[in-house]
Amino acid sequence: MTKNPYITEDLEFLAETAEKFAQKYIAPGFLERDQSRVFDRDLVKKMGEMGFIAPELPELAAGIIHEAVAKADLSFSYINLLASLNGQILAEHGQPEVVEPWLKKLTAGEAIFSIALTEPRGGSDAARLKIERDGDEYIINGEKTSISAADQADASVVFGRTGANEDGAHGVTALLVPMNLSGISTTRFDCHGQRAIGRGSIFFDNVRVPVNHRLGDENKGFVQVMQGFDFSRALIGLQVLAVARVSLDEAWEYAAQREAFGQPLSAFQGVSHPLAEYETQVEAARLLCLQTLWLKDNHLPHTSEAGMCKWWGPKLAYDVIHQCLLTFGHAGYDRGVMEQRMRDVLGFQIGDGTAQIMKTIIARKKAGRKAVPA
Ligand SMILES: Cc1cc2nc3c(=O)[nH]c(=O)nc-3n(C[C@H](O)[C@H](O)[C@H](O)COP(=O)(O)OP(=O)(O)OC[C@H]3O[C@@H](n4cnc5c(N)ncnc54)[C@H](O)[C@@H]3O)c2cc1C
Repeated sequence: MTKNPYITEDLEFLAETAEKFAQKYIAPGFLERDQSRVFDRDLVKKMGEMGFIAPELPELAAGIIHEAVAKADLSFSYINLLASLNGQILAEHGQPEVVEPWLKKLTAGEAIFSIALTEPRGGSDAARLKIERDGDEYIINGEKTSISAADQADASVVFGRTGANEDGAHGVTALLVPMNLSGISTTRFDCHGQRAIGRGSIFFDNVRVPVNHRLGDENKGFVQVMQGFDFSRALIGLQVLAVARVSLDEAWEYAAQREAFGQPLSAFQGVSHPLAEYETQVEAARLLCLQTLWLKDNHLPHTSEAGMCKWWGPKLAYDVIHQCLLTFGHAGYDRGVMEQRMRDVLGFQIGDGTAQIMKTIIARKKAGRKAVPA
């Protein structure tokens, strides 16, 4: 019998195995990858060989593995996130003869996918990239920006406009785009955190993509394919809360062994009570994320729950790590694990949709679409 209603004994065993792997192979490179800003692709393959990339049978299994890898390195766990999000989009909306070879590579850790939605004129209201039909091909022109793994990905799920601008969400088409196609170029930004996965722009200059690479129906890309984001939002919640979890564990340990005024730090309620409050909130937020994946596993609606995971998890994780850093006093302010974790989790307050957009999604579900038009 496990302590958590959502985690079966099989999942608990999976969590232990993933955590051992992540601590042995991924954790040692955490600080170094922030400097070098690249992944060891052999290590990604090793993770694939272990079956840890896009293992969504059930989806809770993906959540457990995301947590284990994020504890070692949040940026590395982006590999898992991009694989789960894109893998599901490919499996549900792609043509089997096109997507199956990609899915094999994706789960084996032999291919990294990016997802390209944001554009220079805005991320919260994106998709103006021009996609035109020319016989059996689409032609893409324009720029996607702030794309995670832009310059490391082997393929990308790209959203662009095939309909009129006034059509809004209708009129957007999603395509699977191999990144080695002629006319594609990329840049890399100097990011505050999540530096190993990195972000950058992708430029498309008359890039020709076969029509059979379309994901979902023409003009329905946004409506159909964006459903996958409910999944990634719960996963992101678990990823950042896992980073908060290890930070709390370390802060408790430090507070119990370091002394001030002749007592352990933890004897002072000014130190222990904020940590106790965050213990409570991290437990609660994690349960919400697991429940959201459980709803998905059981084919039940979970859009507003996913929005809750996505706005609350990253904000809470950032606040928790901030408190943990302060618990370490001056040592917490040195370049190292705590400050890197803070930089890393902050990105998820923006990436994959901001808190305001998540709250609008929740409000729409509760009050109705017409009552919350934003
Ligand atoms: C670490 C990181 C990783 C990312 N990875 C990817 C990726 O892989 N693929 C990708 O496509 N994009 C990615 N992004 C981009 C991200 O999705 C966008 O930055 C995000 O959607 C917000 O868009 P924006 O930055 O253009 O802000 P804007 O849309 O310009 O918004 C600016 C501010 O105004 C607020 N705002 C906007 N509209 C409203 C509204 N209607 N109501 C209330 N507030 C509003 C926003 O919440 C935000 O705080 C990433 C970003 C980061 C930081």
